[in-house]
Amino acid sequence: MRKCEHPEHQAEPRWITYDIPAPHVARITLNRPERRNAQDTHLLYELNDAFNRASADNDVKVIILAANGPHFSSGHDMGEENRLDAMDQWQTVGTWCGFGCAGAEAQMAREKELYIGFSERWRNLSKPTIAAVQGKCISGGLMLAWPCDLIIASDDAQFMDNTINMGISGAEFFVHPLELGVRQAKEFLFTAEFIDAHEAWRLGMVNKVVPRDQLAEATLKLAKTIAQKPAFALKLVKEAVNAVQDASGRVSGMNTAFALHQLCHTHNLQQYGMLVDPGFAAQAKGVSDTMKRAANALEGNVGGDKSAAG
Ligand code: ZN
Repeated sequence: MRKCEHPEHQAEPRWITYDIPAPHVARITLNRPERRNAQDTHLLYELNDAFNRASADNDVKVIILAANGPHFSSGHDMGEENRLDAMDQWQTVGTWCGFGCAGAEAQMAREKELYIGFSERWRNLSKPTIAAVQGKCISGGLMLAWPCDLIIASDDAQFMDNTINMGISGAEFFVHPLELGVRQAKEFLFTAEFIDAHEAWRLGMVNKVVPRDQLAEATLKLAKTIAQKPAFALKLVKEAVNAVQDASGRVSGMNTAFALHQLCHTHNLQQYGMLVDPGFAAQAKGVSDTMKRAANALEGNVGGDKSAAG
């Protein structure tokens, strides 16, 4: 929620659209296609607001998370400038503070709030959620798709966590072993290579793979089927399955991984004067436009501004 509640200061969402495409179904759509739906501070708060809206609407039983453009999400917007100013416009959702502090403190606070905090919050929404994923879904992109209960992928979808290239031990919402299995998760993280939609389905990471031009229709069809069921029972099914997963140690494992992720940022800060390994700048070239911009931003930050983030 924006801090100032004066109507003139309540801007419409910039990067998110919200609609009700069928009875009892809310659809939230990432709408920053020219940046491959890279997640800056505003996009994440707008997305959280949209999830809040759907959660609070008693008429909504199922929530779809979709994305406009050729790619679902290229991850966190590493070229974002004035992140602190952007954050200051929003009421924080978690309980951490110190977003302008020096050293590791600010980065951990931001990631507690915006990264692991939001993804965990969305994972625990009371209502069933379905992600519709097309094109590339990279690192922070996984942190939008994985918190959803179901994932429908188009046949052109590709998934990757490239944080190792930045000297980081995996994206902040660390559920890779649960999503992929232990050995596949290690290979996924060690190599930072894409897995395609069919491989993701084989591993149990996605529910269905459909042709690209049928993604929206197939997702809506599934949402409509679920929306015919009793709302309270749907909530309790979700609670029950999530409880089984959490009893296996999901939360404690994720928290340990998050602490190690922060250690990586601190190590990089000590070694390179920035939060990610600048070697990434060279490796990222040719990956995508967004990654090129991130690489350029990082190159500009070496020895100077220390605000680049992974
Ligand atoms: Zn990070």
